[in-house]
Amino acid sequence: MEKITQAFSSCLLNSTNDHLNKRLREAPPPPKRTNFCTRRKGGKEKEMRFQRSLAFVFPRTRNRFQSQASRYFSSLLESEQRSSFGIAFDIDGVILRGRDPIGGSPQAVRRLYEDSGNLNVPFLFLTNGGGVPESKRANELSEHLGVKIMPSQVLQGHSPFKSLSKRYENQLIIAAGKGEPAVVMSEYGFKKVVSIDEYASLFENIDPLSEYKKWTTNQVLDRSVHPMNTVLCDVLRCGGLPGQENGHQPPLYFASDDLEYQAAFPSNRLGMGAFRIALESVFNSVHHNPLEHVSFGKPNPIVFKNAEAMLRQLQLSYYSNNSKESGDSGLQSFKTLYMIGDNPSVDIKGARQAGHPWFSILTRTGVFRGKHNHAEFPADMVVDTVEEAVDYILERECVS
Ligand SMILES: [Mg+2]
Repeated sequence: MEKITQAFSSCLLNSTNDHLNKRLREAPPPPKRTNFCTRRKGGKEKEMRFQRSLAFVFPRTRNRFQSQASRYFSSLLESEQRSSFGIAFDIDGVILRGRDPIGGSPQAVRRLYEDSGNLNVPFLFLTNGGGVPESKRANELSEHLGVKIMPSQVLQGHSPFKSLSKRYENQLIIAAGKGEPAVVMSEYGFKKVVSIDEYASLFENIDPLSEYKKWTTNQVLDRSVHPMNTVLCDVLRCGGLPGQENGHQPPLYFASDDLEYQAAFPSNRLGMGAFRIALESVFNSVHHNPLEHVSFGKPNPIVFKNAEAMLRQLQLSYYSNNSKESGDSGLQSFKTLYMIGDNPSVDIKGARQAGHPWFSILTRTGVFRGKHNHAEFPADMVVDTVEEAVDYILERECVS
C-alpha cells in the first residue's frame, strides 16, 4: 500500500478529553522535529511537542502568491482569448513516473511560457499525491521540468484541509502517512498536530510489533511494519484515548480515495483508497457503528471547484493589478478548463462530474493503457502523452 505513504489521512480528536489533554500538557517539549517517524524506546512514554511555530505560514504565503501571480500573469492582459481557458495536470502517470519526467512533459509545460519566462497559459497541477508542503512540491517540479512553478500552482490531495483549519484550529490533530504530514498540517494553520508515531509513543504496549523493531535500524523497514490500522482503530473506537471505554468516533478525513496509481514500478500501486477500504473493513468488524469519514482528492467535485477557483484567483489578481491602467475591470469566465490525467476513475470521472467548463483528456502513460477510450468513464479526448495533449489544446485554442 505504497500510496498510503504518498498522501495522508488525519483524524481529529476531541479536545475536551481532559485526561488526554492533561497528559499532553504535562509532556515536556522534545528536541526539534527532524523526522516524521519517531522511535519507541523501552515501551515508555516519550516526549512530544506541537508545531505551533509553523501556524503563521499560510497567510504569508497568500500575500506572496498575489504578487507573484501578478507578475506571472501580466502577459494574459494582452489576450482575452488566452485567459478564457486553463489547464490542470495530474502528476503521477502524466508528468512523472516516480521521479522521472514522462511523455515529453518538460517540453509540453515549457510551451505554456513565453520566452521571457512569463506564463502564457494559466495552469496548475492537480494531484491526489502529497505528504510535503505545496512549496516543497513546487520546487521539486521546477527541478524536474526546468521552469519556475509557484506553490499556488500545486493542489495536492490534502490541500483542501486548509479550509478546515479554522474549524479545528485548537483541536488535537493526528496526521498519518508518508513524508511530513504533521508539518503540512501545521503549515495549514492547525495548532495542535502530532504524527501517529508520536501519538502512539504516549501509550505503553499499544504497538504489538514494537519488540520486533528493536533490532531495526533501517527507517523504511521500520515504517513498513507500523501497525497503522491497529492504532487508528484504537483511536477511532475509543474517542481519542486508547485503552478506555468506547467513545464517539472523532472526525476522520482522507486526502484522497484512489484505489491505485502509477509509480516507478511497472505495475500499478495501491493507493489511499485501498487503505481506506482496509481500515473501514476492519473497523466495521470490531465496532457496532460503521466508520464515518470524508475523502478529498479527485474525483471529489470539491477538488475541481477549488482548482477552478485557484485559476480564477490568478485571473482576478491579474485583472485587479492591471485594470487601473487599462480601465478594463471585466473578468472573463473560463470557456474551457482542461483536465489531463491517466486514471479514468479519478481524473476523468472527476472532470465529467464537475461538468462545464471541464474538458477531460486521458493519456496512455499511466494507469490507463487502452487502445480505445475507457468504457465506464470515457474522456472527451484520448492521447498517447501529455505533450500530445498540450499540442491539441494550443491548436484548439489558436495559441501558437
Ligand atoms: Mg495519475
